[in-house]
Amino acid sequence: MRLARKRLLEWYRANKRAMPWRETRDPYAIWISEAMLQQTRVETVIPYWERFLSRFPDVHALAIANPDDVLGVWAGLGYYSRARNLQAAARVIDQNYGGKLPDDAETLQTLPGIGRYTAGAVASIAFDRPEPVLDGNVKRVLARLLGIRADIGLPATVERLWQEAGALARGPHPGDLNQALMELGATLCTPRAPRCESCPVSQFCDASKKGDAESLPIKARKKPARKVEAVAALVVRRGKALAVRRPSRGLLGGLWDLPGGDLVTGETPRAGLTRALRERTGLEISRASAIGIVEHVFTHRKLTLHVYRANTSTDRIRLDGFEGHKWLAPRAIADLPHANVTAKALDLLISSTARSSN
Ligand code: SF4
Repeated sequence: MRLARKRLLEWYRANKRAMPWRETRDPYAIWISEAMLQQTRVETVIPYWERFLSRFPDVHALAIANPDDVLGVWAGLGYYSRARNLQAAARVIDQNYGGKLPDDAETLQTLPGIGRYTAGAVASIAFDRPEPVLDGNVKRVLARLLGIRADIGLPATVERLWQEAGALARGPHPGDLNQALMELGATLCTPRAPRCESCPVSQFCDASKKGDAESLPIKARKKPARKVEAVAALVVRRGKALAVRRPSRGLLGGLWDLPGGDLVTGETPRAGLTRALRERTGLEISRASAIGIVEHVFTHRKLTLHVYRANTSTDRIRLDGFEGHKWLAPRAIADLPHANVTAKALDLLISSTARSSN
């Protein structure tokens, strides 16, 4: 194991890709990068990380920020609970730890949104603690390297992988070692066509010897994403359009959206729009015109969103399933923190307005 660790470290230092958070030892900056990198590609994260740090340069700045500003800087990255948790954790760190991140994985895990992976990453990378990390890349590398041929969706397999990652991290430079495993999984030990001939640990690798690397790790088949149809509308009253705020818990929590809702079985989009707006906002609509369709894939949902423009003369709002509302100039809705799917619907509405005014 000592030789494998040495090879990994040498390879990482010679081959690591340039990433701005690899140029800093600031635990706060490293923590933000780890939160952003979950479920999101490096190239996407870089500009968000830079903007976030210039807007909220330290724990205190994040702790006292307006939550809408935090969501606004995060908008487009997805998985918005991460942004809310970052701020909740920043407030605890600011109040209880003098604005400095705790340096041990156990304490880090008591903070909102910090699980075993993030705690291990921050403790090892920022504080040189011998703590493991286990993300999708590390699971794949370890399953192949050690020849673990059990379903990695099973808790017992995951626990075994944590133990193996922990054994590897107990040595010099645990932060670099953890990053080496992640980097190897991202660049050479890829899901398809791993490049074993260039791999620094191929001589120790069970899957490479047995020739079954591509079939590892073993994963039970995932359920396909559920198909959902929904409607949303730009509802206008006296030149102002309605924006609604989603509940802070749940999908796209705390973000602003166009009013609407899911269709029920057998319902046409137009009928669904009238019903959803009546039930969820208390508004009666008129002159609804179909603008187009937006397709969007969430982790477990494949959404088809029918987008409308409609008028209303009602001014009494009765919200059900939303936490707030604003009447504002239609184009100003895009300035509120909103999700990618809402951005797609707004783009559709703006381009249809441009077409009809030409
Ligand atoms: S030898 Fe091949 S399968 Fe084994 S860790 Fe390296 S790239 Fe992955």
